[in-house]
Amino acid sequence: MSVPFIDLKAQYARIQDDVNAGIQRVLEHGKYIMGPEIAEFEALLADFCGAKHAITCSNGTDALSLGLMAYDVGPDDAIFTTPFTFFATAEVIALTGATPVFVDIDPRTFNIDPQKLAIEVEKVVAQGKLKPRGIMPVNLFGLAPDFDGIDAVAKEHDLFVLEDTAQGFGGLYKGRVSGSLGDISSTSFFPAKPLGCYGDGGAVFTSNDELADKMRSLRVHGQGVDKYDNVRIGLNARFDTIQAAIMLPKLAIFPEEIELRQKVASAYTKALDGLVETPYVPDGYTSVWAQYSVLSDRREELQAALQTAGIPSVIYYRIPCHLSKAFEHLGYKEGDMPESEKASKRIFSLPMHPYIEDGFAEQVADVIRAALV
Ligand SMILES: *Cc1c(COP(=O)(O)O)cnc(C)c1O
Repeated sequence: MSVPFIDLKAQYARIQDDVNAGIQRVLEHGKYIMGPEIAEFEALLADFCGAKHAITCSNGTDALSLGLMAYDVGPDDAIFTTPFTFFATAEVIALTGATPVFVDIDPRTFNIDPQKLAIEVEKVVAQGKLKPRGIMPVNLFGLAPDFDGIDAVAKEHDLFVLEDTAQGFGGLYKGRVSGSLGDISSTSFFPAKPLGCYGDGGAVFTSNDELADKMRSLRVHGQGVDKYDNVRIGLNARFDTIQAAIMLPKLAIFPEEIELRQKVASAYTKALDGLVETPYVPDGYTSVWAQYSVLSDRREELQAALQTAGIPSVIYYRIPCHLSKAFEHLGYKEGDMPESEKASKRIFSLPMHPYIEDGFAEQVADVIRAALV
């Protein structure tokens, strides 16, 4: 037996006819750049999450850059984020010339801890070197962070909130849909994300008209009336029409897939109870389960046993951003972010996608149980 970590083919088998027809339609009309499927998909995306504007773009990393550029973030600015995330989150901050200031996580949710956030912002204010500008919380593994806590800090210090929901788009936080939880929100359509395309892609969301206009301009070389009228420095960061056509049938089944992911996660949590530490989902939150991640002091043995049984598992993230070589110059050291560091030493993620078969969680549990004796 050998199963995929994420099964993209099972989904394709289901929507094959619509995807193929969509691609064919684009080949026939030939509008490969900013064709009609882009606007169609953007309208549906905005509807889906309740943001006024959805602006598709080249990938989730550029989506974050568009968000930061919309606020003219640059040198002398401090942007607060979690070290327990994919590198891109912190990378784009540095790319603008600003300084990422890391804030440790809540060990139960793996997301940025608003109490620690308040302390870190105060520290930067007291040091008086950098100007606190914004917060970039990440919806890690599909679960929203504590936005009420984050928003309170943002309000007190006049900071923007840029929600990095590459992993969490479509999740729920107290009745609101992820994608509309930040002043700007960004997502990724990398194939392995909960809502992925067949290549690179992403989107930014906002309900602020001015920011939306600015990000539409930034997406195409800082265009004014057209791309030969350049009113600011921007990017080439458009989404492909073919990918938008592919996304139309994918978005249509996304709500059902989110439901299927709940079933898979519940089965895991039931089967793995008492064997490993299973994920915590606070009341009022719905995760989209980009990953199903567990904790164990015996990670290495368990991963080896799973591998022998043909069950893949992956470590997200082995090196928290503050300890990555690329951020050496920031001067962080081991021990600075104890919860992130502890998690990085004990965490691993199990296969997760909507089409996992009944009984699989129990098989995983059997392998883990046997390895633990
Ligand atoms: C995947 C991911 C990104 C980057 O998305 P790309 O489309 O790969 O550029 C950014 N942030 C987080 C949290 C991610 O998981």
